[in-house]
Amino acid sequence: MDVHRHDLVVIGGGPGGYVAAIRAAQLGFDTACVEQDKSLGGTCVRIGCIPSKALLESSERFHEAHHAFASHGIGVGELSLDLERMMERKAGIVRQLTGGIDGLFKKHKIARYLGTGRLDGPGRVVVEGDTPAALEARHIVIATGSVSAPLKGVELDGDRIGTSTEALSYPEVPRHLVVIGAGVIGLELGSVWLRLGAKVTVLEYLDHILPGMDLEIGREADKLFRKQGFEFRLGARVTSARRTAAESCVVEADGIEPIACDRVLLAVGRRPNTQGLGLDSVGIVPDKAGRVPVGENFATAREGVYAIGDVIRGPMLAHKAEDEGVACVEYLATGHGHVNYDAIPAVVYTQPEIASVGKTEEELQAAGTPYRKGAFPFMANGRAKALGQTAGKVKILAHAQTDRVLGVHIIGPRAGDLIAEAAAAIEFGASSEDIARTCHAHPTLAEAVKEAALAVDGRPLNL
Ligand code: FAD
Ligand code: NAD
Repeated sequence: MDVHRHDLVVIGGGPGGYVAAIRAAQLGFDTACVEQDKSLGGTCVRIGCIPSKALLESSERFHEAHHAFASHGIGVGELSLDLERMMERKAGIVRQLTGGIDGLFKKHKIARYLGTGRLDGPGRVVVEGDTPAALEARHIVIATGSVSAPLKGVELDGDRIGTSTEALSYPEVPRHLVVIGAGVIGLELGSVWLRLGAKVTVLEYLDHILPGMDLEIGREADKLFRKQGFEFRLGARVTSARRTAAESCVVEADGIEPIACDRVLLAVGRRPNTQGLGLDSVGIVPDKAGRVPVGENFATAREGVYAIGDVIRGPMLAHKAEDEGVACVEYLATGHGHVNYDAIPAVVYTQPEIASVGKTEEELQAAGTPYRKGAFPFMANGRAKALGQTAGKVKILAHAQTDRVLGVHIIGPRAGDLIAEAAAAIEFGASSEDIARTCHAHPTLAEAVKEAALAVDGRPLNL
């Protein structure tokens, strides 16, 4: 087998890996990327962020046509659902984006190896698959991402009892979908099928939904989602799910009667993907959670081997993986690379959206940090009224003495876009007064952010 030599080899072509490869090529490295799937883009583009958002958008339009158009004076007659077409639209968006990454790889002259990459001792990667290859590189970046976590007793069959991957492609609207886990995936994909007409029951082990989120915002979300028709069974630890007939399943959980349904979505988290990666050949031992341990600048225990994205510590988010990819290779090229983990936004793309950056109120209390809080409801925002989406609020937490913005939590229309201003504020070390004194266009949803900043000092104008 010929040996191919490169300056830098990335294993994994998801948002962490493909972005790292592009930045490395921009910095002058002879770069290669090994990806086992025929399409680049990873979990995010193929079976995660992008297809889920495409379906969230389509299902929201369907729901609005049913429930909101009439209030605008628009009659649409009898509505119908062409699920096949909705799925084709989703697939088309994914195709465009994966094709776009192929184009970027060509533009940056990044060598693409199709196959499974395995570390084979220091500086070496073996590619197994249709076109086997042996690679040598001074720098190797592991970006192998994550896969859905299994749950003991839940018999995944890749059809009726499945993960997010199946839930992105059900061939018909389930009659009754049972979702295991009230985290981000459960609520986003649960929303899709609820809006399209399914009964959706969510079983959650904890006593609240959306763990890790600011509790006040989480409680508001709980109320709004129940009104939409979600049935939440909290404190329900699922112990088993199995198929009982061709089109029926049963789910069992502590403290509740077994639930019969026609589809089950398991969404209890994701686990780092290091299977068959040959970590032992370079002396890297995964931590207890199965992650690749990294120190400063994403260096693993083996010189010349780095890791980024879902496969290492920190939130499993595409933008976090991308920023780590960039920082990792910039460090290799320049000696400097930087990710500010205090300023990584997180967004749940439900209706309304939920977005946050920085510390939650509970985290500030636990750390004994003195803070002031300002909140502003979308009910008092003109643009939200015009949109007909007035549920929710913006909440800003700022240091009591310095006024520095420490956390921003938003539930409401376009929260995922509004949070960008808050992330920039935290990145620049801004105070709530800085946001309050920044001119915000009228009438926009962003004025609610400015008003919440004014409210930190007790002087909102429209409340
Ligand atoms: P991945 O995207 O998982 O990519 C890893 C790649 O490595 C894969 O393509 C895999 O095939 C490849 N690979 C693995 N092992 C090997 C090997 N040995 N050899 C060759 N190739 C290999 N995050 C957000 O920020 N926003 C969202 O809206 C969002 N929505 C999501 C919705 C769903 C349904 C899911 C499942 C996830 C979502 N996420 C979202 C999370 C996001 O997808 C991940 O955080 C992100 O993809 C991680 O990027 P990564 O590059 O680390 O890994
Ligand atoms: P999650 O960690 O968000 O939620 C899992 C939920 O399952 C938790 O609430 C947990 O308490 C519950 N659970 C665990 N065991 C259980 C049991 N036996 N019975 C009942 N409930 C149980 O995980 P997820 O929703 O699978 O998402 C995985 C990852 O994907 C997340 O880390 C997230 O960052 C990422 N993601 C992000 C987005 C986004 O950014 N919009 C969207 C989808 C996924």
